[in-house]
Amino acid sequence: MDSLSRLIYPAFSLPISPKLIKSINNLNFRFIWRDKCHYIKKNDMIKNYEEGGANAIDFDVMNGVLKLKWLRSFIRNKNSFWNIIPNLIFGKMGGIDFLLRCDFDCSSLPVKLSAFHQQALLYWKLIYKHNFTPHNTPIWNNRYIRLCRKSVYMDEWRSKGIWAVAHFMDENGVLLKHETFCEKFDVRCTTKRYKSLIKAIPVPLRSMIKEDIVHSKISPGLRQLCIAGVEFDDSRFTNKVIRNILINEICPNPVKRNYILKEFESMEVKAIRKKYISLPLSPKVKEVHFKIINEVYPTNEFLRQKFNLDVNACTFCENDIESLDHLFFYCESVHSFWTDVELATVQENSVTTFNGDSNKIWNTC
Ligand SMILES: [Zn+2]
Repeated sequence: MDSLSRLIYPAFSLPISPKLIKSINNLNFRFIWRDKCHYIKKNDMIKNYEEGGANAIDFDVMNGVLKLKWLRSFIRNKNSFWNIIPNLIFGKMGGIDFLLRCDFDCSSLPVKLSAFHQQALLYWKLIYKHNFTPHNTPIWNNRYIRLCRKSVYMDEWRSKGIWAVAHFMDENGVLLKHETFCEKFDVRCTTKRYKSLIKAIPVPLRSMIKEDIVHSKISPGLRQLCIAGVEFDDSRFTNKVIRNILINEICPNPVKRNYILKEFESMEVKAIRKKYISLPLSPKVKEVHFKIINEVYPTNEFLRQKFNLDVNACTFCENDIESLDHLFFYCESVHSFWTDVELATVQENSVTTFNGDSNKIWNTC
């Protein structure tokens, strides 16, 4: 685990390749399972305790949190000395604020970005949902609108208020003629350039925007930089929130192992999964609890199924199959142990409650 903390600093300022992320994860999870069989898959292990996971660290998620944290600090402090170069680079695509609202593709952007910036933008694309509304579709940095295989950005036109595909259409969704467009927005460009840009807009996209303009009559508006209802640069958007969003994106399916938990309500299940973590118990006891509620405790029957062994008899009574239920509850030897524990607990309570008052002992018993 110490190894992961040492990786934070380099990951904060360098891109980490997918191959390296995979190697780090392999190393980390082999350590967790003590270099033995992994009984629970990684995607379940990285979930929160409440959701049935073990809060294990996925380096891909950790790297994503660090890269998104950088992106947020860049947005918050655009004029900082440290952001002069990123500002110049992203300024060629309308600035970071504008680019993040566009439906871009890193490989087709007009400027070649560093691997670090590309990775930060890829994590952004993972958490930011472009709720597609045709009339709000930006024409700039759009992955579907390309000239010479690159998406387009024209700063001069944007400064005149042109940024959406809808700006190239009239109120009936018909594409503006070159002269009409130049006159309307007070811009200068050749007919050839204008036509090539119009031609780059895919026909299905044009049709959708036309339908939208005709029916909704709403003027285009840029999307908000909101994720799960929270502004990206808001202080509520903590590392923990980013981590949870990334985990839900990377592994959206809930944990399916519901042995013993199937009998309980969802709130009780959450308590069973989480409360023991804060109890003053040794890590080994907590590990046993986690293995039991996830049905991966190595009973003889479990090992037989997993590794095709011959023996599955109970270690204590040697009569029945050593299943999880049998080992911890139904086995006679174990049952007498629990009875003794119960008696011992009751007696201890009696002594505690006694305090010289015999009536209290009677009531407690
Ligand atoms: Zn037994």
